[in-house]
Amino acid sequence: MKKELHIAFDDTDSLKGSCTTHLATLIVHEIFDQVDFIDFPNLIRLNPNIPHKTRGNGAVAFRIEGDNSDLEVVREVVIKTVKKMARLEDENTNPGIAFVSNTIPKEVKHLSKRAMWAVISIPEAEEFNSLANVELIKLGNGRGIIGALGAIGNPLENDFTYEHLAYRMPKNFGTKRMIDRESILTADKATPLTFSNVDYKYNSIMITPRGADPVFSGIRGETIDEVMKAWSLVKPLEEISMLMVYRTNQHTNQHFVKEFPINQLKPHLSVIVHGTINKKPYYIEGSHLIFSIRDDTDEIDCAAYEPTKSFRGELSNLAIGDNVTVFGGVRPTGEKHPMTINIERLRVNSLVKQFIYENPFCDKCGARLKSAGKNKGFKCQKCSAVYREKKQLEKELPRKISLKEYLPPIIAHRHLTKPLERMNRDNKNKRFRKSDITKIMRMLVNFRK
Ligand SMILES: [Zn+2]
Repeated sequence: MKKELHIAFDDTDSLKGSCTTHLATLIVHEIFDQVDFIDFPNLIRLNPNIPHKTRGNGAVAFRIEGDNSDLEVVREVVIKTVKKMARLEDENTNPGIAFVSNTIPKEVKHLSKRAMWAVISIPEAEEFNSLANVELIKLGNGRGIIGALGAIGNPLENDFTYEHLAYRMPKNFGTKRMIDRESILTADKATPLTFSNVDYKYNSIMITPRGADPVFSGIRGETIDEVMKAWSLVKPLEEISMLMVYRTNQHTNQHFVKEFPINQLKPHLSVIVHGTINKKPYYIEGSHLIFSIRDDTDEIDCAAYEPTKSFRGELSNLAIGDNVTVFGGVRPTGEKHPMTINIERLRVNSLVKQFIYENPFCDKCGARLKSAGKNKGFKCQKCSAVYREKKQLEKELPRKISLKEYLPPIIAHRHLTKPLERMNRDNKNKRFRKSDITKIMRMLVNFRK
């Protein structure tokens, strides 16, 4: 009798290197022949605005099935590998592992939804250990169990994307990534269902990360075929150690689900807030753009920081009275600033009209009139005609911002940011059959053999 087992882990990385998906891909290679994968490995990004997060706040989940004894072997491999590979000596690395046998309890699914936007405590997550089919393993202070539960309870039943990841040889970790730049442009143009490969506006290649981590490249897209095709066109100029494709909630906006009145905002939440501009945009030191919005309950500062580049210039055209919906993370009060929404995207709902007022023209000679003094009408300096009844001409100014959604450029996107080209895309219900998953994963696992 085959049983299902869901496995997830988080917080195995640290700022120094390592990487949760690298560890996960190593484990996939080790267990692939032992059990059947019933989904591609899942890479789940959780609330990006929480403190103590790992880079990108991403956790990995496997969904497998097999005989009891095989599942037990896999369980041991996961625990052993996480213990061996995680940077436990780093006090900021506090891994957690979660196992769920058979059906994912609805309480865990509920927690996962909250983990996308809320702040969840370790004790709160630990209580799930009491559910019969849930097992949690804490290493260090165990903060990783929060992300592990968040990932395990999110089987990506709604919109999702894929990321094709290629990993470097350990000897190359920390060195510059060697890749044929032209081939990336070719791959990008040949695969319309991949996205964010290149930020053309800022002339920046996005598929290769810059840090010391083991990832060589990550290609994101709507379908497996398309990310694999893009990878086949990319020419790495260094040896690649492993490949894997993850099904993920990246670039789906999954963290923006909950709307808040301003007086209910708390630090580190990912929030949707509707409000009207009540302090017009201005720049502060560091070239960050600040404005404030109000609703019926309160007002709050909103910020578009320097790295969001052209986003600031677009939002600087907002005016008092404009109605907007702000999507962002709540930054706690600091020494120099009040509690602030760090804007990740913004929708303009309505714009006030802006006018300028100009003096009218002379009916006799066509010259622009001068004011004759307050409430005294106008006089013509050219022909001396006087007009008591004329009023200033009202001229509507074109607004430099429109009723639409604004996003930072690709270089400033976060993992969960749904890019403009995905705006009307939704991959819900586009799942693979188990036999196809096995076939594709086998190809990836054996790519060097
Ligand atoms: Zn005149």
